[in-house]
Amino acid sequence: MSFFKKSEDSEQQTNLADLKRKVADAQMPAAVEKIAGQELEMLTKISPAAAEYSIGLTYIDYLVTLPWNKKTEDNLDLMRAERLLNENHYGLSKVKERILEHLAVKVMRLNRKPLILVVDDEEIARKNLEHVLSKEQYEVVTAADGADALRKLDAHEFDVVITDLKMASLDGMELLEKIGGRFPDIKVIVVTGFASISSAIEAVKKGAFDYIAKPFKLDEVRTAVRKALEKKAVIKSTKGSVLCFSGPPGTGKTSVGRAVAQALGRKFTRIALGGMKDEADIRGHRRTYVGAKPGRIIEEIHRLETTNPVIMLDELDKLGHDVKGDPASALLEVLDPEQNQAFVDHYLDVPFDLSSVMFIVTANLLDTIHAPLRDRMEVIEFPGYTQEEKAQIATRFLVPKQIREKGLSTNRIGFAPEAVQKVIQEYTREAGIRSLERKIATICRKIAKESLQNSEDGAIRVTPEQVEHFLGKRKYQFEVIEEQDRIGVTTGLVWTGAGGDIIFVEAARMKGDKELIITGSLGEVMRESVQAALSYIRSSAASFGIDENFFERQDIHIHVPGGAIQKDGPSAGITIAVALLSLLTKRPARRDVAMTGEITLTGRILPVGGIREKVLAAKRAKVAVIIMPAKNRVDVEELSQEITRDITIKLVDTVAEAAEAVLR
Ligand code: ADP
Repeated sequence: MSFFKKSEDSEQQTNLADLKRKVADAQMPAAVEKIAGQELEMLTKISPAAAEYSIGLTYIDYLVTLPWNKKTEDNLDLMRAERLLNENHYGLSKVKERILEHLAVKVMRLNRKPLILVVDDEEIARKNLEHVLSKEQYEVVTAADGADALRKLDAHEFDVVITDLKMASLDGMELLEKIGGRFPDIKVIVVTGFASISSAIEAVKKGAFDYIAKPFKLDEVRTAVRKALEKKAVIKSTKGSVLCFSGPPGTGKTSVGRAVAQALGRKFTRIALGGMKDEADIRGHRRTYVGAKPGRIIEEIHRLETTNPVIMLDELDKLGHDVKGDPASALLEVLDPEQNQAFVDHYLDVPFDLSSVMFIVTANLLDTIHAPLRDRMEVIEFPGYTQEEKAQIATRFLVPKQIREKGLSTNRIGFAPEAVQKVIQEYTREAGIRSLERKIATICRKIAKESLQNSEDGAIRVTPEQVEHFLGKRKYQFEVIEEQDRIGVTTGLVWTGAGGDIIFVEAARMKGDKELIITGSLGEVMRESVQAALSYIRSSAASFGIDENFFERQDIHIHVPGGAIQKDGPSAGITIAVALLSLLTKRPARRDVAMTGEITLTGRILPVGGIREKVLAAKRAKVAVIIMPAKNRVDVEELSQEITRDITIKLVDTVAEAAEAVLR
């Protein structure tokens, strides 16, 4: 018995001694090191058999293996960044431009030396401070009094001013007031003799950032300046410091994020937020029970062993929340530069500085995102691709990549341009290129298999016929041109997280009792559009040559088929109204005319969002004419010629104009 006890003891001692050394080596901030020391101390007092012992051991072990002080060095070569972005991505010129701008600002901020103005009427004091601060890699300018300082403030962009209070012309207090009024971003540190501490306090009340009593230690000055600069950097970078990539799936958000990390020479990781419901996913569990873990952010930093990775937070718009706290508010803290310097994960229970992490958030749509979160981000939009862009990306990137991945040779295998077009048009229907990549992968896999089976090694050119051979019968019909024009059925355009899409609105009537039936799982706003459309038509029946009492002995049914599409928002108003008009006037509606627009009760058309995505969706479905609100003219004019080619866009102000264009 005593033998076991002894060996257990010595094992415990080795473990603890080991950890103690690791704690000393981990380069933690002093406060954290102290806590780790206290935890260790506690462990010496409990039995290794106790649950707390192993929890404590795991905890300290986690602390010491966190990269408290490890960073990869940034590569700030913008030319190289541009080259990397271009090498892996076709098109996306606006996206690339915005990203390079963002990096350029970062580079400038990092490269520029902070500029400091020292104001003192004693030359020796000025020279002293100038000497000390220059050694800290700051740029220093000096001024002999307040008036001199003001002249210099006009000439340069200073970050910090250090000023004496008692000076001959224009003293420190007046200078402080002038700076507060004209240069509110500059941080002022007041230096003052013992006698005037009370005036120093007054100075702080007037907006000085800090004060230092004379005679001072040099360290005090260094610290005050550093703090002032940190504060200033925070103010500067608060807005727009987090990039948000918004756009439909498969438009290159992840891939561009990876390229940004590669360009900077940083490590990259992705955290999927979709469906995350628990605050603990972000912030971790408290260490009170066995199996508690840190949140995903700290876990990733631990895994990557660096404090400055690029972390992509994927699908912010799909973030859930339930009774166990709100992950959105935890995220807010993670993304807020004022708070994330001291992020406290529940498991760690000590602050960890996340300010060096570059966060990139992605979202399909922005409107479901928490407003405070959205305000914090600089949004870069990733638009859906045109057919031509898809074909280019497929030929230049996706096909070669898939051929290589399947162990085939790009010299042997090629896709005919018509084959690529066929895959795009008949086997995919999407804004991005995710399923396109999957289809190409399928073809390459099957080619690899067949050429193994038949031990072929000749050149292979994939033709449209082979596409059908490998992928089976085409998956998508061009519903729009292949369907007949019918009474009461119209074509509409919608915009969802997946990009643009087409819907059909069906209207029917039957004997009944003034009931409006709405089916097709429509959202609240869309249901209201149905009611508005009906009311408008009832109130202006005469002008359309419809019996004013048409609703008296009838029921009206509006149905929007298509289970997979999310159906909400006001933009289907016009499509619903024209379907009703078609039904009531018995004029067939053109299937190949697609509409989008919100309606008012008086039949006017209001502008809508997602114009580019809707036009792309219309082209995918082979629509001939698009009817859009005249108030969207600017958005339409912004579209490139490539997008508006082969399609007619008609701008309308009223439901009546739309009906004329659609009804036969
Ligand atoms: P998202 O993150 O927007 O869903 P991804 O970045 O995962 O999209 O892109 C899907 C695939 O398409 C990836 O293989 C990516 O490399 C490729 N891709 C997307 N856009 C482009 C582009 N402009 N040029 C080349 N490849 C692209």
